[in-house]
Amino acid sequence: MTAAYMFDKEEFYGRAIALTLSYPLFEIPFIGVYLIVLAFLFGAIFASFITCTAWRVVRHEDWKLGHSHCDTCGHELSTADLFPIISYIALKGKCRYCGSKVPPRDLIFEILLGLLFAGTLVFHGVVDAAVVATLILEVLLLGLSLADWDSGVIPDGFLAAILVSWIITVGFFKDIRVYVIEGLIAAACVGIVMAIATAVIGKIKNSKMSYGPTKLAICLMLFLGINGGIIAAAAGIVMGIIFTVVCNSKKRKISLAPAISIGAIVGLILKDTLILFVMSWPTLTWV
Ligand SMILES: [Zn+2]
Repeated sequence: MTAAYMFDKEEFYGRAIALTLSYPLFEIPFIGVYLIVLAFLFGAIFASFITCTAWRVVRHEDWKLGHSHCDTCGHELSTADLFPIISYIALKGKCRYCGSKVPPRDLIFEILLGLLFAGTLVFHGVVDAAVVATLILEVLLLGLSLADWDSGVIPDGFLAAILVSWIITVGFFKDIRVYVIEGLIAAACVGIVMAIATAVIGKIKNSKMSYGPTKLAICLMLFLGINGGIIAAAAGIVMGIIFTVVCNSKKRKISLAPAISIGAIVGLILKDTLILFVMSWPTLTWV
């Protein structure tokens, strides 16, 4: 009696959750392609927004201000100038008002985030809370990486936004209990290791070290959990060494946020792929 009741209840919730919170990307091939194109466009749009936000945060401007303006002539840009990628190509990389060259940095990040959004969706294979959380995270990581690269500081506002997006998306996860417990364990482990490492390096170098990278890693581990966290830590350490070498060769302050961000994104994407691979394994061997 109890067993039958339990079975029915589980099946009911299982179906309800599967219907409302997860949609296989290629169930209808046309819709799959459409969603991938849409993901690219959204990536480009959000990149355009977040590069501008990072720029304003670094310069201590109000990030909620209206339209941005040309850095050379100061003319406020119209809506037609603000289409990601398209406006840049149509205006041949020049300001419509003064004709000065606009650096291609924003264009490059718009294309990159577009590709990253599309790639994340393809790798993940389903539209669900996890993929939405990853996309939000990618936008915020681009913003804080640019801010850190330009100013040498990881703004707390971005870290707060990451925490808020975790709190909002966590409720939509199918296996919420495992997700939260794993995330907290990973965050605690990495937080302790990085805080000690930062303190030790600070003592050796006899200088005040920033705990920004530690705080960032703690926030990201909540999303990554244990499997993703291990992949991210490995990728992040490799990227950290590369960024340290690059920054030293350019004689500039070392920015670790981009390295940590790239590590986290690698972890998030590969974690999905690994889980998908493991889940599809029985069907692969039986068919
Ligand atoms: Zn101008």
